[in-house]
Amino acid sequence: MTVVADVTDTIRALRQEVCALHEQLTRYQLVVWTAGNVSARVPGHDLLVIKPSGVSYDDLTPDNMVVCDLHGKVVEGEHAPSSDTEAQAYVYREMPEVGGVVHTHSTYATAWASRAEPVPCVLTMGADEFGGEIPIGPFAIIGDDSIGRGIVETLRGSRSPAVLMQNHGVFSIGPTARAAVKAAVMCEDVARTVHISRQLGDPVPIPQQHVDALFDRYQNVYGQR
Ligand SMILES: [Zn+2]
Repeated sequence: MTVVADVTDTIRALRQEVCALHEQLTRYQLVVWTAGNVSARVPGHDLLVIKPSGVSYDDLTPDNMVVCDLHGKVVEGEHAPSSDTEAQAYVYREMPEVGGVVHTHSTYATAWASRAEPVPCVLTMGADEFGGEIPIGPFAIIGDDSIGRGIVETLRGSRSPAVLMQNHGVFSIGPTARAAVKAAVMCEDVARTVHISRQLGDPVPIPQQHVDALFDRYQNVYGQR
């Protein structure tokens, strides 16, 4: 255990982490132009760190990340925050267990979102990461709480860390920003594979008891402990 760092040090570290995690969005081809973003909660404070609005991925630096309160108001930063800040702030307000939020319009996942069709659980990796289907959230217009409300209403009580907001794209959550990025990457991968599977026939559902066992093992046993 380390001593609880001063909030200034915590924010400095999160600026670096959030900036660096945006490289994963481009690495896995989840975003184009300036769309998409990563945010992180500042633990123990009603603050978040998020990407600036409209800045090219090549130009992101720790210093141009924006610090906002949990109502989306800028408290530190030269730039306007991402236009998704209000939605993400709503998620942090309503889901205290969430430490990171990611938003993308990644192609295959968003294709499912455009049909308002959840991605069925037909792959062990879908059971591992999402514990079932990847759910659809409501159609919601940017500019008020409606996207945030839709994310929270869909993910609260779901095992999935990702929601496909209808006609829009992916929002993913995690205990950390890195975990939320991983969920966004896995969401696109599962959506892509199931899409391709559909081209040649009917994907076979995994029986519920196996979904439950896979999810439990992956969440509680798998990996370095
Ligand atoms: Zn969007």
